Amino acid sequence: MTTPTRTDVLIVGAGPAGSAAAARAAEAGHEVVLADAAVFPRDKACGDGLTPRAIAELQHLGLGDWVRGRGENRGLRAAGFGQLLELPWPGGSLPAHGGAVARTELDTRIRAAALERGATGVEGARAVDVERDGDRVAGVVFATDDGPATIACRRLVVADGARSTLGRVLGRVWHRDTAYGVAARGYVRSGRHDDEWISSHLELRGAEDEVLSGYGWVFPLHDGHVNIGVGTLATEARPANIRLRSLIAHYAAQRREDWQLEGEVRDIASALLPMGGAVSGVAGRNWALVGDAAGCVNPLNGEGIDYGLETGRTVVDLLGSDGADADLTLAWPATLRRHYGSAFSIARRLAGLLTTPRLLPLAGPVGMRSRALMTVALRVMGNLVTDEDADLVARAWRLAGRASMRADELPPFPAADLRTPAVAG
Ligand SMILES: Cc1cc2nc3c(=O)[nH]c(=O)nc-3n(C[C@H](O)[C@H](O)[C@H](O)COP(=O)(O)OP(=O)(O)OC[C@H]3O[C@@H](n4cnc5c(N)ncnc54)[C@H](O)[C@@H]3O)c2cc1C
Repeated sequence: MTTPTRTDVLIVGAGPAGSAAAARAAEAGHEVVLADAAVFPRDKACGDGLTPRAIAELQHLGLGDWVRGRGENRGLRAAGFGQLLELPWPGGSLPAHGGAVARTELDTRIRAAALERGATGVEGARAVDVERDGDRVAGVVFATDDGPATIACRRLVVADGARSTLGRVLGRVWHRDTAYGVAARGYVRSGRHDDEWISSHLELRGAEDEVLSGYGWVFPLHDGHVNIGVGTLATEARPANIRLRSLIAHYAAQRREDWQLEGEVRDIASALLPMGGAVSGVAGRNWALVGDAAGCVNPLNGEGIDYGLETGRTVVDLLGSDGADADLTLAWPATLRRHYGSAFSIARRLAGLLTTPRLLPLAGPVGMRSRALMTVALRVMGNLVTDEDADLVARAWRLAGRASMRADELPPFPAADLRTPAVAG
């Protein structure tokens, strides 16, 4: 199809965040273009795990039955330090089940949901620059196989993932002094048909048999394969000096017998993950960053599909109706802070602590001995606490989060780049 030359709402990136934004905006009656550098179906390095928060968002998109048809799990099977615990999802105001769907399939389906609602999809268009009109973005310049193309827009949503090249053009800065993720995944066929639980190994060991500040996972998919992966935490002060490919091979060898793994792990892919809103410059007059581009990843478990879906949906509610264009410069980071600030602040503080050498070997065995403690840990690590939850754990978690945010030198989603040095991008 020919690339449109103008639109009301332009969304760059058709992962979960961009497609959720496009679906919401089209549903609200906006004219929407959803552009992506890739041609769908496309792969994305991910564990493919869907927590109950993600399931809830997929239900909002009318995809509840679709995702259920691809299997559902009851919770997390956590192993490590000589223990094995099966920890059901807590339920409460969120669904009591999770899922796991390969991103090639999931992202294609969510994008289709946006197109079904009236968004115009553009593929093979890589955003490389913006055109400005004063403090507004007037259009985005794309590199395509047919040469450069510009799409003029009134509002721009940037959902181009963790590297966010367009975000960088707009002045996004990623602060790596708080915890970030380093993770890799691959696929392998498994003879063990056991998709009732997703499995995490909290005692992840490196080549020297040292305990790493991260975890390994085996997430069963509905087609007889498992997504197998490893992820560790790092900070600028304590970078993760690990070779992910050899780590994943090492981890798969340990799991091979138990999971009846057949053949080699294939399609290994890895990425760095900004986490916990450690990104400044997430919005301007008529544009906003969502999903990974805005650092919306849970620092304690590395999940970001749900935050992508949530922020994609939420940003549209701020865009304003046709007559009144809202200024997003302060409104969007304030909204992100309201929704995620305290949870991300405390989570990234704890994640930073976990990068301290020798902490995990000491704390891990203690934690894993207590089912009650791990049940609480699963809930808070997964941020499965919503504003509606009023129980003791929820109140304590929110209180700790607010205290943590007050103590933050740079809170999540700072409106402007207040500090140097930082890594652009
Ligand atoms: C190894 C690993 C395991 C993970 N496991 C999980 C997990 O189990 N569960 C979970 O919830 N999260 C997990 N995550 C995090 C999750 O993958 C991300 O948080 C999620 O994909 C964020 O969605 P997004 O829409 O913001 O970005 P993306 O999914 O990255 O989508 C961005 C889109 O933008 C497009 N794009 C990029 N640049 C441009 C450009 N210049 N122009 C046009 N288009 C562009 C890309 O092609 C892509 O389609 C994992 C991450 C990694 C690296």
